[in-house]
Amino acid sequence: MRRNSLTALLAAGLLMGAVMLASAAARENAPFTLPDLPYAADALEPVIDEQTMELHHGRHHRAYVDNLNVKVEEYPRLKTLDLEQVQREISSFDTAVRNNGGGHYNHSLFWTLMAPAGQGGEPGKALTAAIEREFGSMDALRTQFSAAAAGVFGAGWAWLIVRDDGRLAITTTPNQDNPLMDVVAERGTPILALDVWEHAYYLQYRNRRSDYVEVWWQVVDLTEVERRFVNAPARKQG
Ligand code: MN
Repeated sequence: MRRNSLTALLAAGLLMGAVMLASAAARENAPFTLPDLPYAADALEPVIDEQTMELHHGRHHRAYVDNLNVKVEEYPRLKTLDLEQVQREISSFDTAVRNNGGGHYNHSLFWTLMAPAGQGGEPGKALTAAIEREFGSMDALRTQFSAAAAGVFGAGWAWLIVRDDGRLAITTTPNQDNPLMDVVAERGTPILALDVWEHAYYLQYRNRRSDYVEVWWQVVDLTEVERRFVNAPARKQG
């Protein structure tokens, strides 16, 4: 090998090593991290298959986290905020922070709201009373929430929120927006969330989003929904 080529090769190798070190260091110091799933990737089968969970958590959610961390250099303030506060002040950041910060928050919440079928429990007294007041019954809530989720045009989310006046409401958002953001029409504390992006169901349900929404209720963790309801800031103040 000629000396020039060898030198170039060495330089390239050194450069690559430096880049790898830099990116490892960046990940180590990154303020935002991918949370583990609170259950095994196959725990929600047959409602949500293992491969969908692995891709959804390990690829899609990880990409939101990595892309959000990339923005920290541009917005050092991100290092001082927790993830919920980022949502509340989302209008002070650019679209990439809105999309990836929203994606990180939404998915982190979504995983906690599901449990293996039959293990999600039932809503307790406080949530049951609020649901009956607002929707008439749990069944009516399910029907209205499912219709809202099925009706999202393109990619987005359906939500059950506690509004600032303490009352429940069903809302939807496009893309990775969420009800905490200071840019959405109807704000509140999300206590239930459903991802209706195609990546959430397409491997198993193809284009049949309504089928996915219908069976998804089997893996909703209503005990966790109740816990989030009781702890919503608007409820605690009241
Ligand atoms: Mn998703």
